[in-house]
Amino acid sequence: MSLLLELTHKCPLQCPYCSNPLALERGGTELDTETWLSVIDQAAALGVVQIHFSGGEPMSRPDLPQLVKRAAGRGLYSNLITSAVLLNATTLAALADAGLDHVQISFQDSEAKGADRIGNYAGGHAKKLAAADLVRDAGLALTLNFVTHRHNIDHIEDMIAMGEAFGAGRIEIANVQYYGWGLLNRAALLPTRAQLDACTAAVMAGRERLRGKMVIDYVVPDYYAVQPKPCMGGWARRFMNISPGGRALPCHAAETLPGFDWPSVREHTLADIWNGSAAFNHFRGTAWMPEPCQSCDRREIDWGGCRCQAFALTGDVARTDPACELAPDHALMAVAAQEADRPAPEFVYRRIGANVGGPVPA
Ligand code: SF4
Ligand code: SF4
Repeated sequence: MSLLLELTHKCPLQCPYCSNPLALERGGTELDTETWLSVIDQAAALGVVQIHFSGGEPMSRPDLPQLVKRAAGRGLYSNLITSAVLLNATTLAALADAGLDHVQISFQDSEAKGADRIGNYAGGHAKKLAAADLVRDAGLALTLNFVTHRHNIDHIEDMIAMGEAFGAGRIEIANVQYYGWGLLNRAALLPTRAQLDACTAAVMAGRERLRGKMVIDYVVPDYYAVQPKPCMGGWARRFMNISPGGRALPCHAAETLPGFDWPSVREHTLADIWNGSAAFNHFRGTAWMPEPCQSCDRREIDWGGCRCQAFALTGDVARTDPACELAPDHALMAVAAQEADRPAPEFVYRRIGANVGGPVPA
């Protein structure tokens, strides 16, 4: 259903929870325009419905309007996922003329001081506000995305009010997912249980009040869950991610998993990767599942949870996701959640060459 193109890992911001891998790719390794155009053509032929242009910051690629135009020409619904600090009247007009359907702007907070600290980019919040105005005035569909954590989760009502003020059709309140940079910064970001409960109550109240006017999507941190999320709707069931250098992945965090030979669009067609690659077939379906998943009636609902989280916390990619209360490793979550009650350490900002150390122990 969805193809996400990570056009580049370059980004003016340095969020400490960025979903890009710790080993960021440098500009010289990125696919060229012709290869991205071919990927878009192949996606349309394969039956993909939605295409997401992401990064890093996809607007750092000067060929973005060309790629959007090709997607529109092939009948794909296109979404730009952007920090919006490079978005102005000229760059937006080029994208709108190319046929862009939807813009998702990521906000780091509802107020400038905290937002600019999280992104480590002075003046970023003001630019985002101006960009959201432009998107609304251009008549494009707009989503505001707020990634939440212990430093901004108490501002949920203000975030919802921002969505209303911009006339957004949808906002997304997404708690940090703890892989890669997020896992590295978990002790600095994980909210307390009390903070999360207050956030959930604010989201529920907002949904009730705004029913029929604005959709509020909500993603909670797995550390307080009793059931895992059906990560990406199940491994390689409806989503594919292409890294800046062309590696095809079943989710953007999958590069953290050991033992996989990720196929590249430089060497294989999208159809061959989707249908035939060993990596995409590895966790498809239920045959791979250990107990308790194998005999659980939720196994085709949550697909055993997230493989990246299972590996990050247990060292075994094929374990039941510890987010599940039935998992043998579920106690790891409660131990990790104790970090939220301690003073927050400094952020390790996302950048090439950051001191990322080794894996974070559970
Ligand atoms: S999460 Fe932050 S650093 Fe990462 S791509 Fe988005 S804006 Fe850039
Ligand atoms: S045991 Fe497995 S299939 Fe059942 S709820 Fe837990 S993670 Fe899901």
